[in-house]
Amino acid sequence: LHNTIQDLKGKVRVFVRIRPSWADAQRTAVKSDTDLHMECRGCGLSMSHCTLIDPHPSAASGTQHVFKFDRVFGPVDSQETVFEEVALFVQSALHGYNTCVIAYGQTGAGKTFTMHGGRGKEAGIVRRAAQKIVETAQVMKATGQFYNLSFALSHDDVGPTGWEYSFTCNYVEIYNEQVRDLLASGAPKVNMRIIGSEVLTKDFHEKTFSSVDEVDLIVSSAEKQRSVAATNMNETSSRSHSVFILKLQGVHVETKTKLNGCLYLCDLAGSERIAKSGATGDRLKEAQNINKSLSTLTDVLRQLHEKADHIRYRDSKLTILLQPCFTCSGKSLMIVNVAPEPENERETLNSLKFAAKVCET
Ligand code: ADP
Ligand code: MG
Repeated sequence: LHNTIQDLKGKVRVFVRIRPSWADAQRTAVKSDTDLHMECRGCGLSMSHCTLIDPHPSAASGTQHVFKFDRVFGPVDSQETVFEEVALFVQSALHGYNTCVIAYGQTGAGKTFTMHGGRGKEAGIVRRAAQKIVETAQVMKATGQFYNLSFALSHDDVGPTGWEYSFTCNYVEIYNEQVRDLLASGAPKVNMRIIGSEVLTKDFHEKTFSSVDEVDLIVSSAEKQRSVAATNMNETSSRSHSVFILKLQGVHVETKTKLNGCLYLCDLAGSERIAKSGATGDRLKEAQNINKSLSTLTDVLRQLHEKADHIRYRDSKLTILLQPCFTCSGKSLMIVNVAPEPENERETLNSLKFAAKVCET
């Protein structure tokens, strides 16, 4: 476990998740772990082994692209299966890392299903992560099982007894490069203050939680805030990013050593390209802001990969907020959601290309 967690450091993991098709007849559910085969021939997405056939090949023979990701989930993979792969990231946050899980993809591809999901077995990452955190913390307190946490700390002053955790959270939405606080009534705009390289999430409303049910209540009342605010400016949920931030503060009962980790769970705005010619006014501005924050995200990842002198976090609110996850004490995971229907081929191809680019970093 220790080594795996160390491994996750400083690199963006990329998972792809293909949602079930609306037309059952089209559903192809061939299982593959890391390779993706997309045939763009008007027949939707099928998965087998790792070639992508361009729908508009310039050469008569067609261009083939090969994609390889850290993990590919097919239409039959359950929320539980997906979470099994996410669980390590969640644990890292208890170990004091800043960790993010980002759902990316076109509207309707399954981002919200992946992050929030439904009830029971359909529960998404937010609920499962909260559960994992609460349960793991109980074990750590009762048995001091994370005695070997010393690897996460630079010193060796960790005793054999337990850790005590307290949990708080923030929930914000970024719409048109403005940050709105979903835990405050009326979802008011807030300024993010940045001091040094730190974003002051203290400026956001904070709620404490100690159980999964409390997290459910916090999220559902925040979602109400979001939709109330949204009616004033059309339906915006697919055009805004939402970020649920869980802050985990651990104190070692004997030594008083502290561990502060954060888990950022992001449901991004739809990545679909909005036709430049068609969009005007507000829609155009929204589209430009979404494109800007998503392209800033890729730029930042590339700059980090290239070890650039200056990382342009400040070019978008999203990257400012997620900055702690991109440093050496951070870990990030992107889940790229794609839709299998023929009419989504173009966007699916765009998303996979984006994912492949992130995977290279
Ligand atoms: P997005 O948030 O990317 O716009 P949604 O998560 O709202 O997309 O998904 C669109 C629809 O597809 C929803 O009705 C959702 O419940 C359903 N859906 C998405 N992914 C899955 C999945 N893996 N299994 C079953 N239903 C899914
Ligand atoms: Mg959504």
